[in-house]
Amino acid sequence: MRTNIFKMVLAMFSMMFVLSANSRAESPKKDTFQTSAGALEVFHVGHASLYFVFNGKTIHVDPFGKMGDYSNMPKADLILITHEHADHLDAETIELILKENTQIIINKAGYDSLQKGRIMKNGDQTTVLDIPIKAVPAYNIVHKGDDGTAFHPKSRDNGYVMKFGDTSVYIAGDTENIPEMKDLGDIDIAFLPMNLPYTMSPEMCKKAALMVEPDVLFPYHYKMGETDTGKFAQLMKDVSGIEVRFRQ
Ligand code: ZN
Ligand code: ZN
Repeated sequence: MRTNIFKMVLAMFSMMFVLSANSRAESPKKDTFQTSAGALEVFHVGHASLYFVFNGKTIHVDPFGKMGDYSNMPKADLILITHEHADHLDAETIELILKENTQIIINKAGYDSLQKGRIMKNGDQTTVLDIPIKAVPAYNIVHKGDDGTAFHPKSRDNGYVMKFGDTSVYIAGDTENIPEMKDLGDIDIAFLPMNLPYTMSPEMCKKAALMVEPDVLFPYHYKMGETDTGKFAQLMKDVSGIEVRFRQ
């Protein structure tokens, strides 16, 4: 019963979030990085949704239809799903961007809901489209629901590290600053989530950034007017070597 109430609260939160989302009309902001194997384009759709274009292939991450008009975006060669929450796993939008031979990588709980794709669990590695991909942990340590269960329990959900040529990209998923972030290796570009209570505060996000040490950091999964992005920018001012770019 309490689990049901918890699920209802989560669903209500998703609804509120969806109703207030207002980014459909804008086309996604874009960053381009030069890698040893060609240009990597990063499109910021909004919240946790983004996609990459690399060597003519499109890799979507957590495509969520409320964040943008996916009928106007390139169809997917590869889709990465971090976990099964409604703002990350949107079956209708996945259907919309599928084409022949689209590959889907997903966590186990996401697979149980979608019934599609290839399951990766924390620590698993594979190579798709010549892009090495590793599934890494994403979980809450301190933030829990009323029933005492972490919003994202350890070892259920995925973050992903992908290698585009010599450029490593880390998509953290819904996580807090977990110790495993120290062991990701050399990360060039990182996406770190920042919203409460589901992921990180600005202070926690700074701790995460100091562990990951990316050259470029895109805070994501935040909401303007709710997440104190100014505070995060302030906290990161004295940190050298990490360029913070806000794109949402
Ligand atoms: Zn989540
Ligand atoms: Zn989320």
